[in-house]
Amino acid sequence: MAAPKESVVHGSTARPQDLPSVDQLLRGDASRALLAEHGHTLVVTEARALLDALRRDAVAGRLPVTGVQPDAIAAALTARVQQRLAPRMRAVLNLTGTVIHTNLGRALLADAALQRLLAVMTSPNNLEYDLATGSRGDRDSLVEELLCTITGAEAATVVNNNAAAVLLTIAALARDREVIVSRGELVEIGGAFRMPDVMASAGARMVEVGTTNRTHPADYERAINERTALVMKVHTSNYAVQGFTAAVDEATLAGIAHARGVPLATDLGSGSLVDLAHYGLPREPLPQEMLAAGCDVVTFSGDKLLGGPQAGLIVGSKEAVGRIRKFPMKRALRMSKLPLAALEATLSLYLRPERLAQDLPTLRLLTRPAEAIQAMAVALLPAVRDAVSPRFDVEVVPLLGQIGSGSLPVERLPSAGLAIAPAGTSKKGIGTALDALATALRALPLPVIGRIADDRLLLDLRCLEDSTPFLAQLGLLRARLH
Ligand SMILES: *Cc1c(COP(=O)(O)O)cnc(C)c1O
Repeated sequence: MAAPKESVVHGSTARPQDLPSVDQLLRGDASRALLAEHGHTLVVTEARALLDALRRDAVAGRLPVTGVQPDAIAAALTARVQQRLAPRMRAVLNLTGTVIHTNLGRALLADAALQRLLAVMTSPNNLEYDLATGSRGDRDSLVEELLCTITGAEAATVVNNNAAAVLLTIAALARDREVIVSRGELVEIGGAFRMPDVMASAGARMVEVGTTNRTHPADYERAINERTALVMKVHTSNYAVQGFTAAVDEATLAGIAHARGVPLATDLGSGSLVDLAHYGLPREPLPQEMLAAGCDVVTFSGDKLLGGPQAGLIVGSKEAVGRIRKFPMKRALRMSKLPLAALEATLSLYLRPERLAQDLPTLRLLTRPAEAIQAMAVALLPAVRDAVSPRFDVEVVPLLGQIGSGSLPVERLPSAGLAIAPAGTSKKGIGTALDALATALRALPLPVIGRIADDRLLLDLRCLEDSTPFLAQLGLLRARLH
């Protein structure tokens, strides 16, 4: 069998001289349409690259004659141009069960924030211009009042992200001096952000007190001296120390620090601005509670539970926030107008708390009832079964999701979804079959990201508010799995 097959392939192989020149290729109808749409630079670059690649294949004897037909080359050029222009950052369907997924872009922007971006990004705006006086304004003032109203703070400032907020706070308040922190709170969050390293980067000397599981008021009291510039609390947002534990709460610690004239800063990480318990969700500490307990500075993220754009929010006393705002590093860490506009619009939603669970996508997704998710799973089951059978079996299953982004790491969100398992596969083949399925789902025009657990691919439907785009792709999935 091998010999005749090879001779057939060899006989239909194109030679390099069968290829058109760049000029000839560009004179074809398809190329002319591409040139009219995209201009000379891109189309010529791609035409050269295409012909180079085809020539290499021809020299190697692996270019079939069908590959040099004008229509085939024109189609290949169109595909290359389209691929070059295709966005690398794309929308995906997050069916992982983790609502605020750091790898998938964290919080979704509210409609109001998107509208605001469109309204103020396509024209000049008053980013740093005081419309009342016609003089230079301060970009912080666009959100400071809102942040103070919502959190009860005296003053507020914002930077690029919460890591920057923590770095800036420590640098501005404690450079060349000592910062006291509990050994139980030396957190590492993803992406190489470790509290001891942040302190070093900020030029402060970290003084650890207590132990991993227990820290007492006396530990802080003993450590405060004339070199102390700041006492720092870090919310252990992405892990839980359980069992024989003790930590000093903010109110007690504020009393200890203030008695010695030292400010207290708390990094909340996520920092929900509303009490999630009202929505039947596990509770996260609120910035407003931290301020009421006596913290001088509270830092938290814009794109975690707050549900806005990437941002680092710093709220606190006039004195402390004033020093932070004036610190030169602030200029390097300041927010750009794009997230700032989205942040202002997102914060405005908090002025209407009764509507928040509808208006803010993060809260809307977190509060979606498990029964509604389950009903959607039941409705989708036949279509998904049809797309993946006979290679896979599908069933509706209850699932446990997560809030994500390090928030409430041990709490689980009751949810539901579809579990897809390889049908009639040996134990050995299961992993390969699931990988192939996960790859096919990720290769869809709107990539579907699930999770693999217990020999099944799980699609948690909590974040699928509208199933239409998911259903629309099932035909393609079916074709690719067959
Ligand atoms: C997430 C987090 C940060 C960093 O916030 P970003 O907005 O991601 O920069 C800092 N501290 C804690 C405790 C966090 O959970």
